[in-house]
Amino acid sequence: MADNTFSPTGFGSLSIHAGHEQDPRYAHLTPIYASSSYVYDNAEQGMRRFSGEEPGYIYSRFGNPTFTEAEQKIAAMEAFGIPGGLPLKAILHASGMAAITTLLLSNLKAGDKVLTHFSVYADTQAILQNMLPSFGIDCVIADLRDLDKAEQAMKADPSLRLLYLETPANPTIQCVDIEELSKLARRYGLLVACDNTFATPYLQQPFRLGADFVVHSTTKFLNGHGTAIGGILLGRDLEFMRTKGYRTYKALGGNANPFDAFLLINGMKTLELRMERHCANAMAIAPFLEQHPAIAKVNFNGLASHPDHAVSRKQMRYPGAVMSFELKGGLDSGIRFMNKLSMCTRTVSLGACDTLICHPASMTHAAVPREQRQQYGIGDGLIRMSVGIENLPDILADLEQSLQ
Ligand code: PLP
Repeated sequence: MADNTFSPTGFGSLSIHAGHEQDPRYAHLTPIYASSSYVYDNAEQGMRRFSGEEPGYIYSRFGNPTFTEAEQKIAAMEAFGIPGGLPLKAILHASGMAAITTLLLSNLKAGDKVLTHFSVYADTQAILQNMLPSFGIDCVIADLRDLDKAEQAMKADPSLRLLYLETPANPTIQCVDIEELSKLARRYGLLVACDNTFATPYLQQPFRLGADFVVHSTTKFLNGHGTAIGGILLGRDLEFMRTKGYRTYKALGGNANPFDAFLLINGMKTLELRMERHCANAMAIAPFLEQHPAIAKVNFNGLASHPDHAVSRKQMRYPGAVMSFELKGGLDSGIRFMNKLSMCTRTVSLGACDTLICHPASMTHAAVPREQRQQYGIGDGLIRMSVGIENLPDILADLEQSLQ
């Protein structure tokens, strides 16, 4: 568990140094603490640790020194530059989904409802729409890009307890206004949680805009190298995070493992450098795709043609590096395009160093009936791309030859 107190002037310095504590044996990097439990000098010390009177580790499902550095680093990045500082509590999890589960189960009880946008990550949607209702927790879905509709939804239902945002959203790259929605949520007594996976704290800081909780799939840009699944839950209500939040995490058992935490810590040290390059490449590739004769449409919040361009500019440093585009030729051209790629990597996920390209209709959404896919905005020729940090001319050349 981590409180953040460190505040250097640059984000890059912060992501390298924040959360690090000198190892008692002088190892340069925080070691991988591969230990399931921790020892006590005597029975009294064991009692003090269990009662919380003395800080210290007990059992790695409850916390681990390698997790702590990752937790402190992300908490520091999410609070970076906020005037007066913002103490946050962060809890590392085995995956983004584990962190989201802790968030939902620690905040909601039977009879409560969650308000969310219609475009959120598929498994988040599955928890909200298919699983929580059997525990008496329901979900209201609205187009949260329309603030009037959001307010009407909040006004209409006093059992709404949590506003759950994901912006930019997977896979549609839609963006919602965190600041305005948080103000409305405050007015109607809802807590606000935001999935900040696509943006990372380098591009967007939801706490600054009024969120109470932030979640990440650290699997993506935070890790940055595609080496480990992970997730994190952060909260500004320290008391809640230390009690209900922590107890829920501990009981559900969705803890990270120390090897993955080590990979995450080291990946995050280059977050600023990587995001600068990811985003610069994406800003150059999107207009190239938009004017290409083989492409019908490009979905990227960095383009003036994207409906959420203004809100994305308002709350993000850069628009990120994930986009999708619709090939004119439908399913066949999607498959041909994928097969012709020579440098970009054919895979799902996002946020790794290489450019990752997937074709949802033949891969992630192949099992979804065509009509339903179309309703989600996933056409037969839709390609999703996470722009990597290779040299721009190489990415452009690979896209051009595959589009021929
Ligand atoms: N949130 C978003 C926006 C995602 O894109 C994903 C996964 O793709 C998740 C959450 C789930 O994260 P994980 O796969 O680490 O459980």
